[in-house]
Amino acid sequence: MCGIFGVCGYEEAALSCIHGLYYLQHRGEKQWGICTTSANEHEKFNLIKKMGRVEATEYDIVRLKGNIAIGHVRYPTAGPADLDNAQPHIVLDPPLMYCANGDIVNYTDIRKRLEKKGVYFASRNDGELEAKYLAYLIQHGKDPVDAIVQLMNDVEGAFSSILVYKGKMYAFRDKMGIRPIVYGMRKKNGYTSWIVSSETCGLDVIKARFVREIKPAEIVIFSPNKEPKSLDASKSIRNSVKHYSHCVFECIYFARPESCIFNLSVYDFRKLLGIYLARQLGELRAENSIVGSVPDSSNVAALGFHQESKVPFEFMLIRHHSTGRTFIASKDEREEKARLKYNPVRTVIKDKNVYVVDDSIVRGTTSRKIVRMLKNAGAKTVNLCISSPPIRFPCFYGIDTPTKAELIASSERLFDEKKIQGFVEADHLEYLTIENLKNVIRDCGQNPDDFCFACMDGKYPTRLPAYKKSSSKGHCQ
Ligand code: SF4
Repeated sequence: MCGIFGVCGYEEAALSCIHGLYYLQHRGEKQWGICTTSANEHEKFNLIKKMGRVEATEYDIVRLKGNIAIGHVRYPTAGPADLDNAQPHIVLDPPLMYCANGDIVNYTDIRKRLEKKGVYFASRNDGELEAKYLAYLIQHGKDPVDAIVQLMNDVEGAFSSILVYKGKMYAFRDKMGIRPIVYGMRKKNGYTSWIVSSETCGLDVIKARFVREIKPAEIVIFSPNKEPKSLDASKSIRNSVKHYSHCVFECIYFARPESCIFNLSVYDFRKLLGIYLARQLGELRAENSIVGSVPDSSNVAALGFHQESKVPFEFMLIRHHSTGRTFIASKDEREEKARLKYNPVRTVIKDKNVYVVDDSIVRGTTSRKIVRMLKNAGAKTVNLCISSPPIRFPCFYGIDTPTKAELIASSERLFDEKKIQGFVEADHLEYLTIENLKNVIRDCGQNPDDFCFACMDGKYPTRLPAYKKSSSKGHCQ
């Protein structure tokens, strides 16, 4: 998972871009990068890539001149966590800069084809492949829009992208709309600037007005102080799709709750997850019981659970904020972080029937630690309530789910929910059903057919090359 941000038109583009990236930090914290240019001097790029979380010095800001800036926060899946794999990527001939979010499934095929034509790669990053492919097509006579359409045709999988070429910013998205991307507008000091962000929270922080989601297979072209131009490429795409495949996991876990993505409110979505989960459990005895979240990603679902069940809400686990997100840490870090991340409030938990709401169970080890922690804090019973269905299959579109062999609910592991309940040592385990997850999507005014559930039901929206089916996880990002 990664986050992208772009600013077109405002003289202090870099500063706004850094603020936007700061608000997308939850999407990746291993590397970050920013590249700026100017609509008038569009062959000059100022590029900075750094390890870790977004942190820029005054000197960086001074260096990052220009009225167009694009930036990226990254968490790596298969590719190494180094600066070559960090984004944005630049190409010097023809001069362009590019960043993207999402993993593609035919990376190796396209890379081999380009390498045969003499294209050199410095990384294993999907974004570099897409940037070099666009550069190759433009170099061989295509205009940028035609090059993007060809990329949409040839590259399979997820990409929400920003390309800057000749002083214009192009934002576009794969035909299935797997990863989110929105745009907004800001008027300041007489300038109109256009902002592209993975989530609307990035627009809020720089006081940009949300305009709309960029549609799947749409290309939006931004120029300083001009109205954007939209092109629908869906008619020019081979194997066009009847339905989109928005990643439902973005709504369950990844996006920030104040964001709107896929034309729905993440907050409302998560609250409904909790409401449906409580309904699944039937009438609960409120007396001597409490409900709480595993903070922060399940806070809103726990609130919905409490409102529906009438079981009193308590903050039973306090999160230590400097440990980062467990899901996007490496294996060793994850083990350590799970232990360090939460501290139970013993006075609240003691002798209570505890309903603890979490967004998912991946390997099961973190959940077991939480159950043990609550029991050690004196809980009478611990009922683990999961606001998503079991994750049984790996994701190939940019979320770092582990191998099938590591996923506790996969057919290669425990699969059966009773066994998982035993593994995590809970008194009761309740997963949200896939039907209720679809009900939540319906209640948010969207069609469940436009969402991807592949990590839950194994129905992948793209063809997967044979090596992908057996591989551990998405390619790289
Ligand atoms: S497989 Fe799961 S995590 Fe991956 S895109 Fe589909 S819903 Fe999202």
